[in-house]
Amino acid sequence: MLPIKFKNPSHFQALRYDKMKHIKILDTTLRDGEQTPGVSLTVEQKLMVATALDKLGVDIIEAGTAIASKGDFKAIKEISNAGLKAEICSFARIKKEDIDFAADAGADSVFMVAPSSEIHINSKFPGKNEDYVIDMTVEVIEHAKDRGLIVEFGAEDASRANLNFIIKLFRAASNAKADRLTYADTVGVLIPEKTEEIMKKLVSEFKIPIAIHCHDDFGLATANTVYAVKGGAQEIHATVNGIGERAGNAALEEVVMALEFLYDIKTKINKENIYNTSKLIEKLTRIVIPKNKPIVGEYAFTHESGIHTSAIMRDSSTYEPITPEIVGRKRQLVLGKHAGKASIQDIMKKLGYKASPEQMKEILARVKDVGDKGKRVTDADVKTIIETVLQIKMEKKVKLEDLSIVSGMNIMPTASVKLKINGNEKLEAAIGVGPVDAAINAIKKAVSEFGDIKLVSYHVDAITGGTDALVDVIVQLSKGDKIVTARGARTDIIMASVEAVLEGLNMLI
Ligand code: MN
Repeated sequence: MLPIKFKNPSHFQALRYDKMKHIKILDTTLRDGEQTPGVSLTVEQKLMVATALDKLGVDIIEAGTAIASKGDFKAIKEISNAGLKAEICSFARIKKEDIDFAADAGADSVFMVAPSSEIHINSKFPGKNEDYVIDMTVEVIEHAKDRGLIVEFGAEDASRANLNFIIKLFRAASNAKADRLTYADTVGVLIPEKTEEIMKKLVSEFKIPIAIHCHDDFGLATANTVYAVKGGAQEIHATVNGIGERAGNAALEEVVMALEFLYDIKTKINKENIYNTSKLIEKLTRIVIPKNKPIVGEYAFTHESGIHTSAIMRDSSTYEPITPEIVGRKRQLVLGKHAGKASIQDIMKKLGYKASPEQMKEILARVKDVGDKGKRVTDADVKTIIETVLQIKMEKKVKLEDLSIVSGMNIMPTASVKLKINGNEKLEAAIGVGPVDAAINAIKKAVSEFGDIKLVSYHVDAITGGTDALVDVIVQLSKGDKIVTARGARTDIIMASVEAVLEGLNMLI
């Protein structure tokens, strides 16, 4: 079903926006995003990210700073040679050597930045004034043009600089044949209204495209970026998941979805690739996406409340502004203390069970009871509850008879298991990167005859926090299209993991 579209035509009358054109996106995940504290990507990882960004449909990939390190240089070189559709850009200061490194790496363009506020000019060029910045800007842009580069010229810390100076600086850059001009809110102090006003002014002054670069220090990066477009900006800077220095940059997924769905302004982003790209960035940067983050957070399309789930099943637009499939995701229904009949009936249907009204009441009560204890109610819990109530005493197909593990320092973690599968004993051994991995590998080997069973996700919570705490392991296993969630809870992390995997296997086999 199509999502409801919030068209607001009045926005278009104010801005000189050509509906036939799309807003250009410069993705700076590999430059500003990589400046996130603790993030450092290898050349291979950067190439993976660039390839994913190209598939996502970004117009410009800012791939790093060619002069910064050998790794950055090599990454820009490899990305430039990868035959991607996007324009490949290197960050540069107003220094000829920065330009030479970018050109030598094979970049198509430079995002060349000059300090524009008093604070930045004083700290970067002590004793120099605004005229010096203008002179250097012109000289270095001319050099970049001689080297055959597209020049996107940016005023760093523009939002704390004098707008008259920005215009003077941009005028000099434009006369020196810069191709695009970027207004950078380097420390994230813009507000939407001011952004729109400034953009309108800049767009009226210059013929070349104006871009915006926003940071999220006050949580306004997305709003400011959208308002910049409203004010006439033709290009926006963003990072996947909003990673970047300090509180990060404008999040690509938020800006794109807001522009397209709330303002009906087009980008070239292939929206169904948003989620995959987001997860790739999460994995490589190890910056975990907050669960409640718009568009890409785990909970963005997850519903728990009973009232909500029944309404969602009838019509997803009741409680979702867009359907998750648009961004390459699937809706998740989680049962908890608000668990309603509809979600349980959905699981019953999948299992092929039927319950009387009395049994249904009892199932609901038991599921709520688990939820009230603050636990996540997994498919396995619900199945166990349903089967208990329906008195379906199913003999477990896979049972653990024995498990031994050898682990330590200077020893390969090794596990041997004895399972009873449909009454037959099965012995297997395997190694792993750690004891849990070894145990699970051994079990996977033992059940390999039942098809390709994969561990989709593995999550551990220590309930009380100590090393003696109850460990709650939640796993997702898959076999073909079928995915099940199961849990194991023990004080021993290995046993809890094994228990969870066996629980899941019993649902799959
Ligand atoms: Mn920045």
